[in-house]
Amino acid sequence: MTAPGEGAISPARVGPRLLAGGPIAAEIRASLAEDFARFKERWGYAPSLAIVLVGADAPSAVYLRQILRTCDKVGVSGRLVEIGADVTADGLCTEIERLNADPAVAGIIVQMPLPAHIPLRTVIDSIDPAKDIDGIHPRNAGLLSLGYEGFLPATAQAAVEILKRSGIEIAGKRVVVVGRSNVVGKPAALLLLREHGSVTILHSKTRDLGHHTRDAEILIVATGRPGLITGEMLSPGVVVVDVGINVVGEELVGDVDFESAKDVVAAITPVPGGVGPLTNALLLSHLLRAARDQAELGSAVAQGTTR
Ligand code: NAP
Repeated sequence: MTAPGEGAISPARVGPRLLAGGPIAAEIRASLAEDFARFKERWGYAPSLAIVLVGADAPSAVYLRQILRTCDKVGVSGRLVEIGADVTADGLCTEIERLNADPAVAGIIVQMPLPAHIPLRTVIDSIDPAKDIDGIHPRNAGLLSLGYEGFLPATAQAAVEILKRSGIEIAGKRVVVVGRSNVVGKPAALLLLREHGSVTILHSKTRDLGHHTRDAEILIVATGRPGLITGEMLSPGVVVVDVGINVVGEELVGDVDFESAKDVVAAITPVPGGVGPLTNALLLSHLLRAARDQAELGSAVAQGTTR
């Protein structure tokens, strides 16, 4: 046997391993399409996903088109609820409560960002936690932090799932998460901790970002700052998950500067085509779970068998 570095001919470097989300998402979608068809057969209706969009926002429009396309692919009806940017917080909550009460709507997503005059907390609190398929309600966030079963924020879950499904070991690794938002950075860090990573979280007040990122064996980046992480901030052999989706000119780019990173990393998620496609597929798997729970609860109530 040849020991590493002893007479072994190293192959010419052809670039990093690309961790593509597309094939994994396609697999999930294929089984979801069957599951949704079975759901319809059993319960007599196809569940809907309601997406609430307040005002017009260019990056949101890109993202929403993708979700609606994924809905079509798995046989779910995606319902876009467009509301004018001048809506009041009360008006928006009333609309969400209407969706909470609609039995055909199994899941609700409120697209962020909201206009500045609407308090985020009020809106989040108004979503029925049983329909909160992107895990933003405090009940689901609390369940995640305690390690119990709830709805996970799909993007954070996708960032971790792409590692697991690509066979990348997390347990015991030095994992660094850049970004601490409630929807991505914080839940991703909790999920990575659940996978037994040794997790460090960085944010905009962190001093000497590169000092910490160079320590990472696995680096998750979710900042919304295009090209923030460059090759010289990485250690050779690191695995990078770039969650960022930024519209720069006509292009979609990540938070990692791919050109300078590609010769340093062992593996990296491309943007687009990495975390994004997987996020949508996972979101719809949450919708399926929500729909089943609601249908079973409805049936138990009708039969008087709830505890
Ligand atoms: P966010 O709410 O704006 O949070 C950004 C986080 O990054 C904050 O915690 C912020 O720190 C930190 N940050 C900003 N500038 C930084 C800097 N220079 N150094 C270190 N940390 C910095 O954004 P988000 O909602 O988490 O989204 C992050 C990215 O993911 C965006 O590009 C978004 O488009 C993308 N995204 C992708 C998907 C997908 O499906 N792939 C889904 C959702 C979002 P502070 O807390 O200190 O301000």
